[in-house]
Amino acid sequence: MTFMKKSDRIPFGVFVGGISLKRSDRGWSPRSRFMEGRYGADALGRFLSYLALLVMVLAFLLRKALGGTAGNLLCSLSLGILIWFYCRVLSKNLTKRQLENQRFLKLVQPFYDWVELRRDCYAQRKDYAFFKCTGCGRTVRVPKGKGRIRITCRHCGYSFEKKT
Ligand SMILES: [Zn+2]
Repeated sequence: MTFMKKSDRIPFGVFVGGISLKRSDRGWSPRSRFMEGRYGADALGRFLSYLALLVMVLAFLLRKALGGTAGNLLCSLSLGILIWFYCRVLSKNLTKRQLENQRFLKLVQPFYDWVELRRDCYAQRKDYAFFKCTGCGRTVRVPKGKGRIRITCRHCGYSFEKKT
């Protein structure tokens, strides 16, 4: 994160609600004394902002089906998430926010791994067959078109027969 020098604030920056915006290659971003030393948005922050938006859209779409009370609850939830998001963005406790972000990344890692595995399986589906090992549950990859073969899992050594 870089901050504007006083000299380039006037010709290249504009002031919006007390926050100066500087035009950079990433678009307009806040560069002001107000944001100095504050945390900003990270992976958890981006997730929270998308989640707040999603819950708001859900509240809007389901308001008739769910009725007023549940709709209001969803709206409040969305607002709560948004407040949490801004508290983190404006926070000056950088260490604590970084720790939160690390915990969040660790939590979502299995999901990312799963998505990546599915993507790999899909990309290689013409040349390889994929099976779940009955021993350890991991995905095993074997060349396609070899007929019925005995597969030995590299991870746990369990072997099973499959048609490729
Ligand atoms: Zn296995």
